[in-house]
Amino acid sequence: MRLRNIPRADETVSASPFVINEPVELRGRWNELFGNDNPIRIEVGMGKGRFLRDLAALNPDVNYVGIERYTSVLLRAVERVEQEEPTNFYFMCEDAAILPELFAPGEVDRIYLNFSDPWPKKGHAKRRLTSTRFLEVYDKILKADGVVEFKTDNQDLFTFSLESAEEGGWEILGYTRDLHHDPMCEGNVMTEYEEKFSSQGNPICKMVICRKK
Ligand code: SAM
Repeated sequence: MRLRNIPRADETVSASPFVINEPVELRGRWNELFGNDNPIRIEVGMGKGRFLRDLAALNPDVNYVGIERYTSVLLRAVERVEQEEPTNFYFMCEDAAILPELFAPGEVDRIYLNFSDPWPKKGHAKRRLTSTRFLEVYDKILKADGVVEFKTDNQDLFTFSLESAEEGGWEILGYTRDLHHDPMCEGNVMTEYEEKFSSQGNPICKMVICRKK
């Protein structure tokens, strides 16, 4: 995603009622924020947040937290919910690497990774959100039967991700290299990037993984 320095971003983002500024304080207590014991699902690298908002509207009995590393990007998500009140979704500006500081073991029911940055250089492989390094991070916060769902149009990143899941000891519950023409598409919620790349004719890949029992 192209980043520009937007001077008002930090201020606007931290003032939004949708943004959790001190998520460390909620570790193990996210249910208190939501006021219920509904499952908590997170999107890592949420970008402008359309996927998370649409999921939250479709599933009022599920709680959602979107994580985005840059305020300049999160600003776009915040601006789109200006007229709304938080109910079952919030955002935070954090790096995925520190997720275990923000969620207690087993506190997260599902993790969505959508169109994560490919980091094509071999030397940058550890930065990919589906690398074994990040899978270890997710392992620390996911509940026992929790799953990670990953979508991308990048075939090389997808191959890497399948290999990484195997190497990291995860079970591949399902995958496709052409989601929009596959039964796995049932109930699919499109992300901003998915809409853009699929409209250009790129097939969308998806995998769903969980820890081996
Ligand atoms: N998920 C959205 C979609 O599908 O439309 C946005 C995809 S965009 C290519 C990837 C986003 O992930 C960017 O906004 C980037 O800043 C964010 N991101 C990348 N690495 C991250 C990390 N370690 N922690 C949090 N966000 C990250």
